[in-house]
Amino acid sequence: MTIKSSSRVDHAVAVAKQAHEGQLRKTGEPYIIHPLAVKKILEEWGMDEDTVIAGVLHDTVEDTSLTLDDIRKEFGDSVAFLVDGVTKLSTARNGMRDIDTYLPATKDNFLRLMIALGDDIRVLIIKLADRLHNVRTLSALPPDKQKKIAKETLEVFAPLADRLNMGQLRVELADLAFKYVDPKRFNELKTLITRSNKSAEESLHKIESEISAALKKEKIKFTISGRVKSVYSLHKKLAKHNQNINEIYDLTALRIIVDDITDCYLALGIIHSLYTPMNGRIKDYIAMPKQNGYQSLHTTVITKDKHVVEFQIRTREMHEYAERGLAASFYYNEQKLTENYKKGKIEHLPTNLLWITELQMTAAKLREGKKVDLKKLKLNLFADKIFVYTPKGDIIDLPAGALPLDFAYRLHSEIGDHVVGVKINGKMSNLNKKLEQGDIVEILTSKNQTPKTSWLDRIITSHARHKLLHRLNAPTSTATEQRKKPRTKKNKAK
Ligand code: MN
Repeated sequence: MTIKSSSRVDHAVAVAKQAHEGQLRKTGEPYIIHPLAVKKILEEWGMDEDTVIAGVLHDTVEDTSLTLDDIRKEFGDSVAFLVDGVTKLSTARNGMRDIDTYLPATKDNFLRLMIALGDDIRVLIIKLADRLHNVRTLSALPPDKQKKIAKETLEVFAPLADRLNMGQLRVELADLAFKYVDPKRFNELKTLITRSNKSAEESLHKIESEISAALKKEKIKFTISGRVKSVYSLHKKLAKHNQNINEIYDLTALRIIVDDITDCYLALGIIHSLYTPMNGRIKDYIAMPKQNGYQSLHTTVITKDKHVVEFQIRTREMHEYAERGLAASFYYNEQKLTENYKKGKIEHLPTNLLWITELQMTAAKLREGKKVDLKKLKLNLFADKIFVYTPKGDIIDLPAGALPLDFAYRLHSEIGDHVVGVKINGKMSNLNKKLEQGDIVEILTSKNQTPKTSWLDRIITSHARHKLLHRLNAPTSTATEQRKKPRTKKNKAK
């Protein structure tokens, strides 16, 4: 990545140095160390010049005599806007005064933060860089402050980095913070990971050379490397599996990076021909990306000497995106600078990050004093998605917790309006049954059926609710429809 340096950036550094003159950090170092570290992080992420400059100046308006007008005069509207955003955000977090004027009361800090950020997502990226440097230097603070900041980092900033598919940042934030939140547990798990890596080391070398030989034989270009599991994600996984370490299959993992998607699947085939894949552990996040846009093939195999190893296979681009996420999008978008981009709007967001657009629209509505359904917003923004199938094999994505009627209305409102029953994985089921990842859902309909008010309790998506309410409020089914002979027939969902 090219590290940019320009006279504008140099000028910003000079201005910040002067403004923070005489101020010290808790570590005893000159304060300017902090904005300069934030600058460096933003440059490493490949952010644009305005964002880097705003990073340099991000603490000046709050902590020095420099005003927003000064910044606007020197560096233009865009930089001033970003600095204002970061300042407001930190004021907002120290008592949420500003946000309270337009944000309905909610205790959900995550949500509040997101709405505050809706205007320009680059504000969030500066905030993440700011937080990263603050947790990297957390040791200088008194213990109670350490715990507070670490906890907030785990609860708000690490999940945020995950939402933005900034994998590298998520791991660093979470592990740095977890060390302060639960030092004893952190050390335990760290030791466990090191020990497990050590015991697998010899075996891994053998696997690496076996696979390398096989891939070379097929003329696939690749790089292979070990992947270190994050302490915090192991902690969370163990909690899910009753602390049973034997159920954690990705302690040892190898990552293979290849040139294109075809090679990803070829490599997967080669691995499966060498070792025994574990049942139910093959995940195709290339065909079905995670909600944050993450793409990769995962498989877990048992080697000849009985080691369990997870493989992640992806292209270089997917890897880049998995590590840098939203920041990578900015980087690529900057290559084709547009007016919209300069205003902080990204034009070519990957579909999986379109929630950012939704967030920006919601923030605008709130500022205009319009009502916003926060529950719905939260569902749309944060609920994880599941993928279910029609009997013909079409993939439908729905928020986790979706019910058969959500599925039916998603296919077509005509299907939704006439639901009489549902088969899930070939078995008769009922309309209260939550759909699960991978279910095959067949909707049974009857021409005779009409939408019921009680159905409102059996849907969770705003899309289905909207369609259903529309039908309930409209004059009921037409006379011709009612005169038709009642006749139940299975209607394969298309
Ligand atoms: Mn700061």
